[in-house]
Amino acid sequence: MPATFTRQFDTPAYKGKVTVNTGLFINGQYVDSVDKETIDVLDPATGTLITKISAASAKDVDIAVQAAHNAYKTSWGHKVPAYERGRLMNKLADLMEKHAEELSALEALDAGKQYFFAKAVDISATIQNFRYFAGWADKNHGKTIETSEAKFAYTRHEPIGVCGLIVPWNFPLLVASWKVAPALACGNAIILKPSEMTPLTALKVAELSVEAGFPPGVINVLPGYGSVAGQALTEHPKVGKISFTGSTLVGRKIMETAARTNLKRVTLELGGKSPSIIFDDADLDQAVKWASMGIFMHNGQVCAAGSRIFVQEGIYDAFIKAFSTASKSLKLGHGFDPSITQGPCVSQTQMERVLGYIESGKQEGATLLSGGSRLGEEGYFIEPTIFTDVKSDMKIVREEIFGPVAVIAKFKDEAELIEMANDTVYGLASAVYTQNINRAIRVANALETGGVWVNQASLPDFQVPFGGVKQSGYGKEMGEYALESYTVVKAVQINLGAQL
Ligand code: NDP
Repeated sequence: MPATFTRQFDTPAYKGKVTVNTGLFINGQYVDSVDKETIDVLDPATGTLITKISAASAKDVDIAVQAAHNAYKTSWGHKVPAYERGRLMNKLADLMEKHAEELSALEALDAGKQYFFAKAVDISATIQNFRYFAGWADKNHGKTIETSEAKFAYTRHEPIGVCGLIVPWNFPLLVASWKVAPALACGNAIILKPSEMTPLTALKVAELSVEAGFPPGVINVLPGYGSVAGQALTEHPKVGKISFTGSTLVGRKIMETAARTNLKRVTLELGGKSPSIIFDDADLDQAVKWASMGIFMHNGQVCAAGSRIFVQEGIYDAFIKAFSTASKSLKLGHGFDPSITQGPCVSQTQMERVLGYIESGKQEGATLLSGGSRLGEEGYFIEPTIFTDVKSDMKIVREEIFGPVAVIAKFKDEAELIEMANDTVYGLASAVYTQNINRAIRVANALETGGVWVNQASLPDFQVPFGGVKQSGYGKEMGEYALESYTVVKAVQINLGAQL
């Protein structure tokens, strides 16, 4: 029998008890992994053990895929009315709302987030997302197509079957919901593989899915190492689709494996090096606040983080001064302290990776304007860090750091800016600050990114598609466009009288 984890929280931000089963969730119940392997889950704010969880191996993945496949063939997909799928998803959203504080506490603990941020952003947007796609469950129709009087043609939007959903540690439940909700609405059965560093909210939602009434096998949650469980899921011949969010390196591996096995479909969301562009005519105060949020929110561990900041020469000095002051006002600490604004990096490895980038910035000759060091000895905290005088070939300008590190460069005019902003292999998102609407539209059109924010940053919306171009991946999450990622189109053509 798998163990449960219980924590009595008695913090200024949250008081209450939370219990989560730490087994694998397969076919509607929690089980130990076949090999009884476990993984330690650590609190990134202290580096101490939170709990141990079961670790899925290829054997567990196979059992879960068989369960999902059976569910898809018998009790899900087109075997249930579409409105029933929507009803169950709404029921699950209601239960997540009822348990929102527990889910927020787990997310804050596990991912090193502020409790209030987890509640207002991660959990609240997860619930919205489920409700949004619940509404789509019975509205994702095919079309009839007029060809000639001798033919009746129509399309069906059919589910793919079993979908493997591999998610990272930065927004564990929210990013999962971007995949789980449309996949279920379209009638697929799912295997969710959360990052082994942040599995607790997904395991808790699995429990709520039983209470909501989902048939066994429709939802399976398998924490485990990416190279083991993620790889096995990607190789499995009965998995028809992998949706992955994470690094470009692993995204590339996933595509290769998908191609080598059963040519399964793949959606990839692979982060970026997003430009944040401040023109002379921007509202300085607002641009500083949004650009600061754009890079320092959740400690820079955000795929769309505005990590390359380009400032027009007329506003450069004023911006640098105000931006640096804003970064120094950020307060780092444990997520259950309501006065903090920043948490830690998710792990020691991630902290060391970010510190390595900071070191390379210094060595390559960028000017360290502020921050640049680890804070304290406990947990994995890094000061909000700003580099200026950066050159386009520096590592800190070219590579995704995924930490609280901003690089700032100066530009003269729009033409130069477009060159600089597009000089990257990534293309996830961008932000433009200007009060000139013509310029905003012109620049938005010229930027090679999957999304553009004007006079705001890093605020996805569940109704609006999100996803990158270039090496930031492909396929859209959220909004109506996400439905295409979880359906296949079948075309049926009926002969109404043509004779041979
Ligand atoms: P990874 O891309 O390695 O991990 C993301 C997810 O993929 C995790 O669940 C991971 O499991 C899994 N995974 C790893 N290897 C495989 C595989 N062979 N097959 C299938 N799944 C796999 O990111 P990291 O956590 O190592 O972070 C490294 C860098 O990636 C960051 O510094 C950042 O630049 C980028 N990143 C981007 C994210 C985004 O939102 N776009 C999110 C997270 C990271 P496991 O944890 O066991 O490796």
